Amino acid sequence: MDDVVIVGGGIIGVSSAYFLAKAGRKVKVIEKDPTYKTASFPLSLGGFRRQFLQKENILLGKFAREFIFQIPHLLKTKKNPNPTASMVPNGYLLLFGPEHAEEQYKALENHKICDAGTKNVKGSELSNYFSYINTKGIETATFTDNQTEGWIDPFLFHSALKSKAVDLGAEFIKGNVKSLSEINAKIIISAAGCWTKELLEDIPVEPQKHTVFRVKCPTHISKMPLIGDLTTGIYCRPEGKEYLAGSPKSVFDAKDLEPAWEDFEELVWPALALRIPVFEELKLTGGWAGYYDCNRLDHNAVVGKHPKFDNVYLATGFTGRGVMQAPGIGRALSELITTGAYQTIDISSMAVERVLGQKARPEPYVL
Ligand SMILES: Cc1cc2nc3c(=O)[nH]c(=O)nc-3n(C[C@H](O)[C@H](O)[C@H](O)COP(=O)(O)OP(=O)(O)OC[C@H]3O[C@@H](n4cnc5c(N)ncnc54)[C@H](O)[C@@H]3O)c2cc1C
Repeated sequence: MDDVVIVGGGIIGVSSAYFLAKAGRKVKVIEKDPTYKTASFPLSLGGFRRQFLQKENILLGKFAREFIFQIPHLLKTKKNPNPTASMVPNGYLLLFGPEHAEEQYKALENHKICDAGTKNVKGSELSNYFSYINTKGIETATFTDNQTEGWIDPFLFHSALKSKAVDLGAEFIKGNVKSLSEINAKIIISAAGCWTKELLEDIPVEPQKHTVFRVKCPTHISKMPLIGDLTTGIYCRPEGKEYLAGSPKSVFDAKDLEPAWEDFEELVWPALALRIPVFEELKLTGGWAGYYDCNRLDHNAVVGKHPKFDNVYLATGFTGRGVMQAPGIGRALSELITTGAYQTIDISSMAVERVLGQKARPEPYVL
């Protein structure tokens, strides 16, 4: 019998493998597509932030920053002596209209309790900090400017975690698990991302297609943070000398991962140009689409032991934040499995029982 078997070698699978191998467990990871062509993590924007409503998400975001800054030290191996995730700590800037302002003031109370260090200004004052933004329709805005938020290259992050997990003894094998009953192990972890329902049909997590556009603009705004405009649902960030921008439109039951090109002219460009007037001169240079692992109950992660099994744990439903939550979730699962309880960040509110009992606990700040 195996000790720990993880189904799914995406970002959550490799992080769990790393923390469990570090804790001395014998870990095997089964991945159906080691090229990760349609997995969520390589198609993500790699953003990490602590600006959420719920305390657990704020704390997981804080730990992401702590972990990412220590990658060169923590994930170093003989084969990979200089691990990096190409971090860009330019911060996040979230913009709220009057309809979201009250909720954001509540979120700020939680930011304060969790010592998140976010700043809050009125929309009318925003030009003093971000001169390139048109403040029309913005009631309030929150941001960080002290390198506590930003983005990474998710593929490099995954590679560094995987190399370190292998170095610590984890084994990765190719295989498409059709049913968890095929596995003979003391502990099974389902880390199957948006495909979780194929293994655990009572978990309401489904693939939700999101399109990202790559654009260039004659004006380069250096030091631009990742901007989430909650008045339009648009988000964008620099990518080298270009920019990436996410469409606010998403689709369930998509047939394939062809980007929704029509969204660019209809939705994305007008919203970008409205908020950042120099973006009037944008040119589309590319794009792609990927699946969010969307928790249809409440857009929040589902993590912990499945009550219907003796030995099955799962982590899924990150709904646009699985890359940044991977370090915290890998550590939490390792604590739960090796000691029977969470030792650092208490994420009991994300338990499987919540979704089985339909007790929604929504996290509104999905970008
Ligand atoms: C456009 C876009 C932008 C995003 N932006 C961000 C962002 O800025 N920040 C952030 O934190 N997150 C972001 N995300 C979300 C993030 O990518 C996901 O939440 C995260 O990748 C989930 O990790 P995972 O390991 O659970 O799933 P995945 O990364 O999808 O990995 C799951 C793996 O399980 C394997 N698998 C599934 N079923 C089986 C099976 N039966 N047998 C064997 N293997 C199996 C799959 O092949 C896959 O490799 C974004 C996602 C998208 C699409």
